[in-house]
Amino acid sequence: MSGELILVVEDEANIVQLDRMYLEREGFRVQAVGDGQAALEAVERLQPALVVLDVMLPALDGLEVCQRLRAAHNPVAIILATARDEDIDRILGLELGADDYLAKPYNPRELVARVKAILRRTVRADAPEAAGPIHLGDLTLDPLRREVRAGEEPVALRTQEFEVLAVLMSHPGVVFDREGLLRLAWGYDFYGQTRTVDVHVAQLRKKLRHSRVKIETVPGVGYKLTAE
Ligand code: CA
Repeated sequence: MSGELILVVEDEANIVQLDRMYLEREGFRVQAVGDGQAALEAVERLQPALVVLDVMLPALDGLEVCQRLRAAHNPVAIILATARDEDIDRILGLELGADDYLAKPYNPRELVARVKAILRRTVRADAPEAAGPIHLGDLTLDPLRREVRAGEEPVALRTQEFEVLAVLMSHPGVVFDREGLLRLAWGYDFYGQTRTVDVHVAQLRKKLRHSRVKIETVPGVGYKLTAE
C-alpha cells in the first residue's frame, strides 16, 4: 500500500538517505530518527505502519527498543537491521518479536521488498475477498479478525506465526518444504533463510502445545499439520 508511513531508525545519515530515497520512490512516506529513545517517542506519536530499526543506535539500542515495544504490546511491524552475527532465533522469537530482519549492509531494494511483503500481509485481512474462518481439530483461525483459538482459548500469535499456521491449516496433511512455506507465508523468495521457518515453527509448537493439532516434522522434507 503506497502512502503508508515508514519510520527509519538509524544514526548513519547515508543509510537514512538511501532508505528514504528507495522507499519514497515506491510511494511510502518516510520519517527518520537517530536514536532509540527518539524511536520509542516517534512510534507513539506517528503510529507508523512499519519501523526499520537499526540495532546499533545511541541512547537505547534497537534490540532494547524492539523489546520495549513488544512488552507494551505494540503490534507495529518491525524489521531489524542487524549485524551478521546476531542471534536470529532471539530476534524473531518471543523475546524480541521482530517481524523480519536484514543483515547489514543490505541492498535498499531488498529492504523495499521486505517492507512491501510485510505490509501486504498486514493489510490483506482488510481485503473484501479475505476468506472466512478455517477449522481444523480444535483450532479455529479467522483471517479477517486475525485470531486463532484452540477450543475456547485465544492463542496470541505474531504476524509470521499466524501466516505459517494459515498456510498449514489451509492444507492439512500436505507436506510443505521450508522454501514453499517461506514463499506462501512470507510472500516473497527468501533464499537461504529457511532457518527462519524453523524458528517460527518452534514458536508455533510452543503456543499450540495444548491443542490437538500438531505440526509434524517430515524428516528431510519439511512440515505438515495433523489433527489427532
Ligand atoms: Ca547504527
